[in-house]
Amino acid sequence: MAENLTVHCIVDDQEYHVDEGLYLADLSTAIRQRVKQDYPQAKVTDFICGHHLLKYRLANVDAMISSDLKQSQKINRKLTRAMQSDDYEITDVNETLTKSLTFGERIADDVARFGGSWGFIGIFIFVLISWMLVNSLQLFGIHFDRFPFILLNLVLSCISAIQAPIIMMSQNRSADRDRMAAENDFHVNLKSEHELRILHAKLDHLSQNQIPHTLEIEKLQIEILSEIRSELAELRDHHK
Ligand SMILES: [Zn+2]
Repeated sequence: MAENLTVHCIVDDQEYHVDEGLYLADLSTAIRQRVKQDYPQAKVTDFICGHHLLKYRLANVDAMISSDLKQSQKINRKLTRAMQSDDYEITDVNETLTKSLTFGERIADDVARFGGSWGFIGIFIFVLISWMLVNSLQLFGIHFDRFPFILLNLVLSCISAIQAPIIMMSQNRSADRDRMAAENDFHVNLKSEHELRILHAKLDHLSQNQIPHTLEIEKLQIEILSEIRSELAELRDHHK
């Protein structure tokens, strides 16, 4: 067993105690591959001393940090590009439509609004009944439109003939408004979906690379700390 306690470091071929380092089999895959890059003949039964191992561990940490940095820069660039390329301006549909209204259209809107109200129906019924009463009972001694009220018929036809196109005008514009609103919504949705996808990529990168890397670095720190502690304890033992 005694000859097993001294081993040779693969880097400088010096003799070390087994406690002063690790066998390649005990290293993490990434670090073992790093060692194998420099020493292709290395086997898992080879030994590396703590001092040289630290060098490889730090190189590994450096590589992790720089790859994380590169990846997040890439994602940030993507996000910036997506924000810039989207030049669609979100419009306030109501404001745009109100500004483009002509005088005639505004009147059509008012007429359509009044024509579709209870007030209009009330006034209309009142006028109809008065017209009929005046002409059948000859109130005030006038009867310009005897039964069956042919003139009244003509007036009603005229009113409905004019009212129909006015209502249509008003309806056309509300269709315009719906179309514009739908277009606006579509663009806003598209934009948010794109940004969401990039955010997803960012989150995936965080959870799949950055957090495991951080944990790995933390583990390394704890390992180094415990090595320092055991060395300190050894030193104390020597001084006693
Ligand atoms: Zn060494």
